Amino acid sequence: MRILLQFPEGLKQEALKHAKKLEAEGNEVIVSASPTFGACDLAIDEAKKVGAEKLVHFGHAEFHHVDFNVEYVPYAVDAPLSMLGSSLPELDGFSSICLMTTIQHVHQLDKIREFYESNGKRVVLNRPNGFAKVNGQLLGCDAGNVSTLDREVDAFVYFGGGLFHPIGALLLTTKPFIRVDPFENRVERIDQLRETYRKRSRGRVLTSLQARNFGILVSTKNGQYNLNLAMLLKRKVEGNGGNAAILVSNTFDYESISNMLEFDAFVSTACPRIATEDTDRLRKPLLSANELVEVLKMQQEASLRSR
Ligand code: SF4
Repeated sequence: MRILLQFPEGLKQEALKHAKKLEAEGNEVIVSASPTFGACDLAIDEAKKVGAEKLVHFGHAEFHHVDFNVEYVPYAVDAPLSMLGSSLPELDGFSSICLMTTIQHVHQLDKIREFYESNGKRVVLNRPNGFAKVNGQLLGCDAGNVSTLDREVDAFVYFGGGLFHPIGALLLTTKPFIRVDPFENRVERIDQLRETYRKRSRGRVLTSLQARNFGILVSTKNGQYNLNLAMLLKRKVEGNGGNAAILVSNTFDYESISNMLEFDAFVSTACPRIATEDTDRLRKPLLSANELVEVLKMQQEASLRSR
């Protein structure tokens, strides 16, 4: 069988090893060299182009159903649990916690849960309600039912590396939020980042108030494609007296987008984290759909006041 292999950036270093193994089993193997951001970003077009009958996607669990033969190979990482003890002082006085992690560490959740329970905490796991697949799993775009749990628990605990995943959950909650990073040997409260992200969002909205021409970005990635939303936003802009064009790409190249000088602001309809994480990569404001709606509302109010 001809197979296309796809790896996220952190696993690309193992591409040859996996290719050789599958070749030894009698397959013809081709490896995708494109950047890969998640299971929202399956290389199905490449697989079809090279005549592959199957895509093997490493490092992520299924995101949503696609009409192609895809095998998901999640990559479990046994992270050291030694930092859990250091998180207890941060959790002093909190009797119930919501625990979450990335797909790489979900197999460790039982042990982590046992640790906190044996230290007197009631532990709940966030339940998936969108793209995540198992209890306790956190995606950058799917924190499950954390908004509901916000009323139920005293604090949130994220176990894993980096800030990308917990920020999505952080912005949907109000309680103390503790990050336990087993790779950086770090335990920290990240609550203050809520205000930082809210201020940045407010700044983007305010700097877009004079914008008339909006470029609405659509990604062709299978799990990020939302042309209907883009068309709806285009109609909203035009209904407000502005101009809009839908700009389509697979991976956004911000240098190339910056060359589109006629646009005063851009709006992402793709990965929801683009409008929180990539905003510094363009000289013009890069808004989420909700931020655009806020801008249009404020423009309408300003227009009514000036009559
Ligand atoms: S956060 Fe963005 S890149 Fe990650 S899985 Fe969701 S849509 Fe894909």
